[in-house]
Amino acid sequence: MQVKPYFCPNCRSNRVKFSLLSSARQQIMKDAISGEVTDQYETEQVDQDEPDIQCNVCGFVGNEMRFVKQAEREPRM
Ligand SMILES: [Zn+2]
Repeated sequence: MQVKPYFCPNCRSNRVKFSLLSSARQQIMKDAISGEVTDQYETEQVDQDEPDIQCNVCGFVGNEMRFVKQAEREPRM
């Protein structure tokens, strides 16, 4: 995630309230016959260079770069 201002390119009113949509990976063991999960391991965070971001005002989801670029185009004065 970048230390840069975001600006929602969709509603163009939000610069502060966002959700970071991250991916998680969890290893599991399944029973080959019943299909039940027999064992599960700790959840690991999958590192993403450019995570998806959601605007908490309008709900728009997009790649982080779209929010960064919009903030660069229309910087806060
Ligand atoms: Zn928005």
